[in-house]
Amino acid sequence: MTPDTARRRPQRVIPIAAQPLGGCSAGRQPAGKLAAAGAWLRDHGGLLRALQWAVVLVYAFLLIVPACIDLPDDSARMWNHLTIFAQFVFWGIWWPFVLLSMILFGRLWCGVLCPEGALSEWAAKRGLGRPIPRWMRWGGWPFVAFVLTTVYGQLVSVYQYPKAVLLVLGGSTVAAVAVGLVYTRGKRAWCRHLCPVNGVFGLLSKLAPLHYKVDEAAWKASQARQDKAASVDCAPLQPLRHMQGGSGCHMCGRCSDHRGAIALSLRSPSDEVVRVAEKEADGWQTALIVYGLLGVAMGAFHWTASPWFIALKQGAAEWLVDRDILWPLDTEAPWWLLTHYPQHNDVFSWLDGAALIAYVAATALALGSGILLQLAIAVRLAGRWRTQRLHHLAQALIPVAGCGVFLGLSALTVTLLKAEGYPMHWVNDARLTLLAGANLWALWLARAILARWGGPARRYLALLPLLGALALVDAAWGFMFWWW
Ligand code: SF4
Repeated sequence: MTPDTARRRPQRVIPIAAQPLGGCSAGRQPAGKLAAAGAWLRDHGGLLRALQWAVVLVYAFLLIVPACIDLPDDSARMWNHLTIFAQFVFWGIWWPFVLLSMILFGRLWCGVLCPEGALSEWAAKRGLGRPIPRWMRWGGWPFVAFVLTTVYGQLVSVYQYPKAVLLVLGGSTVAAVAVGLVYTRGKRAWCRHLCPVNGVFGLLSKLAPLHYKVDEAAWKASQARQDKAASVDCAPLQPLRHMQGGSGCHMCGRCSDHRGAIALSLRSPSDEVVRVAEKEADGWQTALIVYGLLGVAMGAFHWTASPWFIALKQGAAEWLVDRDILWPLDTEAPWWLLTHYPQHNDVFSWLDGAALIAYVAATALALGSGILLQLAIAVRLAGRWRTQRLHHLAQALIPVAGCGVFLGLSALTVTLLKAEGYPMHWVNDARLTLLAGANLWALWLARAILARWGGPARRYLALLPLLGALALVDAAWGFMFWWW
């Protein structure tokens, strides 16, 4: 089913497993263990829904209960205070390992476990069923939603305080349900267009070795035979027949063996970036990689450790005091706007908030523009300039962008585990190994992309500025983990 079909009229969806029609997959186990795993997912929708509701309950508990109890004191630990336990689960395990799962299994998390996606789809089955409006289809949402959520999360200290977690994650969940209640009939319009991590998940899943492969010839043959095929309830509204990559697919398995043409399959982890992205890469994806993941996210991880941030803030404070402008030093902003926990000596002034935004924006602009410039030089050195080539080459940086968010988020995991007394002396070596692996992976992808454009001399010449772009990223992590 295409997105357009879904917009025109609500469809009654027939569960594939219950409809043994000619040419349809019902109950048949496709050849190969992986394809059979996809069919298993297809045939166990009820079990998956039960799993999703279990995750929803755990998620709701960890989201709501810590926000209703007292904040932990300095002696509290992960195993004796729910708030610290929830902090560890959300930011120490959940997020870093969901990101990692994208690279290993594609968006299986979205289709099988995500509580927000499950709730949005559940709401959409009961809602108004309106068509997806034009504003929601705007291609910039993945970038804008990611940037706004990241910056806002820092302003309210989402990694530290449960009320901020409830506001940011809970607010996103409420919005997902609201979108579900209004738009589409049983689909995931929220996930496809507005989810703040949709763009990031879509990029990382391009590296996954698993995808649902569509066999165009088998599809045509099925049509030629006039096989009856039940509709597939593809919640993220993927264009099944023409699906090339896995970045929009939630890996739910519902289309497995549809028309005998779709199967969960292995692929080269380079395939989507090198081949599919040649046409599908676009400016918003480039912005998300270069200015979002390698810029804004880097600034958001950096500022707490950065002496430059302190210098910026102190310089601004002195400038203001010299001119008798004192209101920016007030710390009376509400907790939902700026961090405000006076009982823990943790309050942000207006100046703190402005300095944070300025620091993150400056990091994003400096790093992002530096990387973009290196990419542009690489494209030019590789041959004739084409903007689409710039977007294609930017995709080679997905491994370092993904590794960066994993390293940044797992820094909290390490801090929490250290506080529990676990030995963490090996961590910096592990970080270095991960970073080195991501760099090599990025170079490998860049080499394969450049090989499509020209001969070896130009290809290797163009890799030089790529090394410059990677050096910028590595230097940013060097400051965070080794030099500050
Ligand atoms: S294309 Fe749609 S139905 Fe098929 S596995 Fe992906 S999300 Fe599920």
